[in-house]
Amino acid sequence: MNADEAQLKSEPAHFDLIVIGGGSGGLAGAFRAAEYGARVALLEPHLLGGTCVNVGCVPKKAMWLAADIAGKLRMAQSLGFAIDSPPNKPCELDWPTFIVHRQRYIANIHDSYRRRLDAAGIVVQPMRAHLIDANTIECENGVRLRAQRLLIATGGHAVKPSIPGAELGETSDDFFNWCAAPKRVAIVGAGYIAVELAGVLQALGSRVEVFARGQRFLQGFDEELTRQLADDYTQSGVHLHFGHAIAALEADGARVRLRAIDGSLSDAFDKVLFATGRRPNTANIGLERVGLALDPNGHILVDELHATNVAGVNAIGDVTTDLPLTPVAIAAARRLMDRVYGQREGRLDPNDIPTVVFSHPPIGKVGLTQDEARARHGDNLHIYRAGFRPMLYALAESPQRSLFKLICVGEERRVVGIHLLGDAADEMLQGFAVALKRGITLDDLRDTVAIHPTSAEEVVLMR
Ligand code: FAD
Ligand code: NDP
Repeated sequence: MNADEAQLKSEPAHFDLIVIGGGSGGLAGAFRAAEYGARVALLEPHLLGGTCVNVGCVPKKAMWLAADIAGKLRMAQSLGFAIDSPPNKPCELDWPTFIVHRQRYIANIHDSYRRRLDAAGIVVQPMRAHLIDANTIECENGVRLRAQRLLIATGGHAVKPSIPGAELGETSDDFFNWCAAPKRVAIVGAGYIAVELAGVLQALGSRVEVFARGQRFLQGFDEELTRQLADDYTQSGVHLHFGHAIAALEADGARVRLRAIDGSLSDAFDKVLFATGRRPNTANIGLERVGLALDPNGHILVDELHATNVAGVNAIGDVTTDLPLTPVAIAAARRLMDRVYGQREGRLDPNDIPTVVFSHPPIGKVGLTQDEARARHGDNLHIYRAGFRPMLYALAESPQRSLFKLICVGEERRVVGIHLLGDAADEMLQGFAVALKRGITLDDLRDTVAIHPTSAEEVVLMR
């Protein structure tokens, strides 16, 4: 029994707030509430930081950075740098060495959270919680805690399709345990994770094939840009199979083949990765006992203030129907605590949330796509494009191109959508997202003097 448990068993355990889940949203909520003086308990059975820190954004971005370096090294070689690796062969990464750096970085995040939780006086219980009623939870060791308010922030988990042989496939969680690039890998899906991991694995030396049931990458992103990204992937050696729904996985010795719904059988792969979406963690935590309303996919239903249908119970992050992104979970949690304990106004604005897919090159968007803008504003749209080869790629005679697009509305040409595909799009988008949220027009962009020579200048030079 640890010191916290001993204290909780000997005294009536009553808190202002109990946070269930120590991921991006739960931690942000716990810290913000404690800043206002609330007495907070937090339950987390696994590693602090949840999906983002342990099997999401952070290790993914580390792998993306490794892949980016590999691509730049190859380009450097073609530009005359002496790099000790045969020409036209990937500059090989020693995964175990890199993973030591990646995991040390993550361990530092865990330490930092632990120190901040202690300093804030937040009581951490390293175990699962079950709801008993709207004010009481029970920990796995039987200890019960009570609070005026509960925050459910239990996140989500990867799902595999229910097809025969699905157990032969892995998910992104497994990917983060890999110690080498598989020779041949099949990725099923065409969303964020499929596109990101396809780019990483191809750059790190795998032969990658993507199997998508639909006709394109990344529903919800600008279609023209996703087609350009698909061309870039094909150029870099990724094999794309669109309109190819999978009916089963079949073992072939230690390898795996994909059976399509038309009966055709793929080549054998060393690894098959399912990147077919995620589901909320709402099972087996007693939500039904308190009558919490869920949508058909199991997400907790919340209003715009992140209140559930049960008084005193809030939910934020991937367990709700909010966009499943770390900054969204954090922003929702902080604004909620500002209102409850800080008597400050504010709510998460679900509109114009910028998002980037860390593909090679990255693709990002803020605001409306062309189709969304047409549905909302009719035909009074003005579309501006800049397609170009960034200087480094032109120097290296690489065919990779960037494509930027602005969606503007009305006579004043108010910018309602910004879509960027190209190197550094991930870093560029944040500033332009502020501008879009402030309601800028095309003239505002054109009145801004360009920074030359950059890719970003193309955004203010579009005509
Ligand atoms: P989580 O971070 O999932 O945390 C939930 C926590 O609750 C977990 O730690 C879990 O152990 C705990 N828990 C579950 N059940 C219980 C229980 N009964 N009792 C107590 N605790 C419980 N987003 C971005 O913005 N940018 C990115 O680049 C990005 N990359 C990603 C890459 C991958 C591979 C994945 C899978 C996701 C990525 N995301 C990214 C999404 C991001 O990770 C999530 O949106 C974010 O982690 C959601 O935070 P959360 O707090 O809602 O849930
Ligand atoms: P997504 O929702 O992005 O994509 C799921 C993909 O799986 C879609 O292409 C979907 O196809 C396909 N799919 C679903 N079911 C099946 C099936 N049975 N058979 C074949 N294909 C199927 O989910 P991800 O898992 O990629 O990512 C989850 C979420 O995590 C993202 O939505 C994003 O919010 C977050 N994330 C954010 C990142 C970032 O910010 N950079 C990076 C990674 C994740 P279809 O389009 O036809 O429905």
